[in-house]
Amino acid sequence: MAANIDWNNIGFGYVKTNANVRCSYDGKQWSPLTVTEDEYIHMHMSTMCLHYGIEAFEGLKAFRGVDGKVRLFRVQDNARRLQSSAKKLCMTPLPEETFVEACIKLVKLNMDFVPPYESGASLYIRPFIYGAQVALGVHTCPETEFVAFCSPVGPYFKGGMQMIKVVIDRVQDRAAPRGTGDIKAGGNYASSLLSGDKASKLGYANVMYLDAAEHKYIEECGAANFFGVKDGTYVTPASPSILPSITNKSLRTLAEDMGLKVEQRPIPVEELKTFSEAGACGTAAVIAPIGSIYDLDTKEFVEYGTEPGPVSLALYKQLRDIQYGRAEDKHGWCVIVE
Ligand SMILES: *Cc1c(COP(=O)(O)O)cnc(C)c1O
Repeated sequence: MAANIDWNNIGFGYVKTNANVRCSYDGKQWSPLTVTEDEYIHMHMSTMCLHYGIEAFEGLKAFRGVDGKVRLFRVQDNARRLQSSAKKLCMTPLPEETFVEACIKLVKLNMDFVPPYESGASLYIRPFIYGAQVALGVHTCPETEFVAFCSPVGPYFKGGMQMIKVVIDRVQDRAAPRGTGDIKAGGNYASSLLSGDKASKLGYANVMYLDAAEHKYIEECGAANFFGVKDGTYVTPASPSILPSITNKSLRTLAEDMGLKVEQRPIPVEELKTFSEAGACGTAAVIAPIGSIYDLDTKEFVEYGTEPGPVSLALYKQLRDIQYGRAEDKHGWCVIVE
């Protein structure tokens, strides 16, 4: 039970909740959603996901608002993204309605784990899909399992936004052009661990990945999208190997609402020094403002200051206000779970 959780001191870790939601595709059809208290998956050792990385996941949050209502943020967008991930890994995509229903069911079952409004915490939802066929050969995997579980998580920045330091490292790439960078495949994370670990040991929060073909353009900042701001313009990279972040998509819309211009185009490394603000964006933090970027090869150092800039602050506030029910949800992004 959630009764004894110290809501003001939770971090980002697994917390056991009441139940999780599952369904499976047997090669012909999806089963109805089932609810279980079981935290484990009993699996044959020759299940394909274990050997060939046939797995993709999602991450989204539910928030208890200022009005006490619980809101799921852009759940349909996560449903569609998991479908595109499944298709690219030759798994059967889960119908959008089933995904949405599973997330709503999950939140309802775990209502007492949605943190109180004042805590600034939220309920993180982790749906995932994997190739469940028992086989040894490498081939497509029609049998698929879907699981959605959740865990209450604390705010990314305790005590307000902090500027992060990031580093450009050309030794290892995260994803190849026309590879799997544009889907949320678990394997992309596996291939980012080595460079992420190196960055962390050097004292940086994240690695700034460049395009794998030429190492000329900005791709992503760790497992978050990148944006820069200059002259009333919000600029974010366009590339076939970037994960289409739902946070970034939301920030682009809000930037336009605020009268900023929005550009999605290749960003050469040399352009970094021309931005007045830069940030990493994703569900975890919404925006992690970038304080500085150091290039390990050219030794070039770009600084954006010690406080988040006005555009980053305004975008962050507006998105958070929508998620917590403090601002009008003009774009219809929230689903209220009752
Ligand atoms: C999940 C993810 C993001 C952020 O996407 P959101 O939908 O905004 O949470 C960015 N980059 C990568 C590589 C990711 O896996």
